[in-house]
Amino acid sequence: MIYLDNSATTRPFPEVVRAVQTVLEDGYYNPSSAYGPAVEMERVVATYRSQLAQALGAGAGEIIYTSGATEANNIALLSVKSMRRGERGRLITTKVEHPSVFEVCQHLAGIGYDVVYLDVEENGSLCMNQLSSLLTPNTMMVSIMQVNNETGAINDIERINAMIRRQVPHAVFHVDGVQGFCKMPFTKLACDMYSISGHKFHATKGIGALYVRQGVPFGGGFIGGGQEGGLRSGTTNTPGIVGMGEALKVYRENQAGWLSSMRANKMRLAKNIGSIPDTVLNGPAADAGAPHILNASFLGVRGEVLLNALSRQGIFVSTGSACAAQKKGKNRVLCAMGIEGRRQEGAIRFSLCPQNTADEIDKASAVIADLVVQLRRFQKR
Ligand code: PLP
Repeated sequence: MIYLDNSATTRPFPEVVRAVQTVLEDGYYNPSSAYGPAVEMERVVATYRSQLAQALGAGAGEIIYTSGATEANNIALLSVKSMRRGERGRLITTKVEHPSVFEVCQHLAGIGYDVVYLDVEENGSLCMNQLSSLLTPNTMMVSIMQVNNETGAINDIERINAMIRRQVPHAVFHVDGVQGFCKMPFTKLACDMYSISGHKFHATKGIGALYVRQGVPFGGGFIGGGQEGGLRSGTTNTPGIVGMGEALKVYRENQAGWLSSMRANKMRLAKNIGSIPDTVLNGPAADAGAPHILNASFLGVRGEVLLNALSRQGIFVSTGSACAAQKKGKNRVLCAMGIEGRRQEGAIRFSLCPQNTADEIDKASAVIADLVVQLRRFQKR
């Protein structure tokens, strides 16, 4: 089996599996309870919260654990409802966001917010000049992804933040950091809110976090028992938090080497498939963009047909966002990049992890090259 769908989800690290199992067996107490072992679990959670905060250059009180990034993105964006006494001002996002941002924006547009969707350049990064021209005084929030989950295109968060601070200092800047966290060097966050998801970096599913900078107006999440400082109720997901903390620890210890090995494998894959005739890359060049995502179109072959043929050979890839895979129709992200017709139909997303080997990349490339020839012959008939 060759797994090249790490943007959809990742295999938990062995360290994560062991830590989660220990919590399930020995640390299952509710950290909100008052007796010894429960208080100990509260302390454990506090330690992991500080560790995550430190990786983000934040304070522990600025971290809200969630069930994942869909929830984090939802509660971040829905915060506009509690800002400026219900004023329905402007919200700026891009045409290529994940559905957990894009569809919340559509909901907000439906109830009267002035939502504007930025275009992206051919390489998938947002148009900075357009952003500058749309930052009007009534802008309440800007929500931009750090790394695009389908193409690996990177947005320059520091530059965007500086532009927002200069032009509309009161606007809240939210960043969907799901595909950037761990895949980009750890630096102090240049934004007001930041979403992450554990299962994208080798923790388990059902755990994520939202960073909310102190002082930023935040509407809160679930209402109930008052966990997460009263900002997101729900019994603390101790196994998830511990697992995510362990994944982060392993990533931080190995990050420099892993980023360069993923980049090397991505370049190798790009070179290998680049030798298949009528193959084009979508998004940034292989030496640019995120180190782990490569999107390519094999003209004359339908993406889903190639995906299924690869799957029968134990090679797992995707045609786009896993969340959009159930939805029929055009690919919104590729459309925004001006990629239509045969090029859109033939698109495949490869997403790598640090454990992929050069040998796997060569084997997968050879199988793809064979299948593309066969499928082209078949589809021409
Ligand atoms: N944002 C991006 C960029 C993603 O790639 C994903 C998952 O595919 C999400 C948000 C949603 O994350 P989760 O699976 O934790 O809900």
